[in-house]
Amino acid sequence: MSELTTTEMNAKGPFTRLITRVFFRTAQVSDHVLLAPSLHYITLQGEALKGVAWTAGDKIQIRLGSGLQTRTYTPIQWDPLQGSTSFVAQTLSPGPGSDWVTDAKNGAVVELMGPRSSLALGDTAAKDVMVLGDETAFGLTLAWGAGRAVLEVAAPEVWGPLCHAWGQSAALIAKQADDAHWSRMEQSVWERFSPQTHFVLAGRARTIQHFLKALRAKGISGDRIRTKAYWADGKTGLD
Ligand SMILES: Cc1cc2nc3c(=O)[nH]c(=O)nc-3n(C[C@H](O)[C@H](O)[C@H](O)COP(=O)(O)OP(=O)(O)OC[C@H]3O[C@@H](n4cnc5c(N)ncnc54)[C@H](O)[C@@H]3O)c2cc1C
Repeated sequence: MSELTTTEMNAKGPFTRLITRVFFRTAQVSDHVLLAPSLHYITLQGEALKGVAWTAGDKIQIRLGSGLQTRTYTPIQWDPLQGSTSFVAQTLSPGPGSDWVTDAKNGAVVELMGPRSSLALGDTAAKDVMVLGDETAFGLTLAWGAGRAVLEVAAPEVWGPLCHAWGQSAALIAKQADDAHWSRMEQSVWERFSPQTHFVLAGRARTIQHFLKALRAKGISGDRIRTKAYWADGKTGLD
């Protein structure tokens, strides 16, 4: 029998250890760049990430602590030869995922599940996709190379240069506490809309609900809209 990894040993109880061993891959943090306050770029590397089939839009779930609690992130890229993957993680609100991201040090051992299917482009051309989301959907936008994006973000002044550096011309709308910014988001959506547009609504559940209604009210058919809530106010770890 092979030796237990450090995190397997940290896993509480035989059941958790068994699940960890069977369903999780082991990797290490190989790079952690603080892009801006509350915004991290993390790269994981490991033998178990080699030869893995990844499709842009897939998710990974990182195991936190000694139980089976996980938090979900969207890889921007996956190199099956090097055995590495990277994602952008925000830490805007305290939680175990944000704590893990903030403290992730080079060399730290990570157990992760996935990549697993979450949102898939399918036959849709990336140039026809408009992502409506927030910081949590930035990875998805980059992974797909989505043609357009309208993102509600806490700090547009930080995101502008980052989007530019990544070649992504997203419309960045500053969040307001009472969601008063939704009207400006909507305006940006229609400015960027074309008859070929396919909408992908990802990020905050409440924003998704609002824009789903707004798109339907404009007569956008259901087969041109995909949704996936990445987080919801007052709820923890949606996935
Ligand atoms: C399929 C999928 C893909 C995802 N991809 C990414 C990704 O690539 N990058 C990324 O950063 N996140 C991504 N997320 C979202 C991320 O998993 C959540 O934000 C998660 O809640 C963070 O865990 P936490 O432990 O920090 O907070 P939790 O313990 O889950 O929540 C604590 C509190 O924080 C609030 N909260 C959670 N997220 C936010 C937020 N963004 N802004 C404000 N308040 C928030 C919750 O409502 C709750 O009140 C993805 C989620 C899913 C389901």
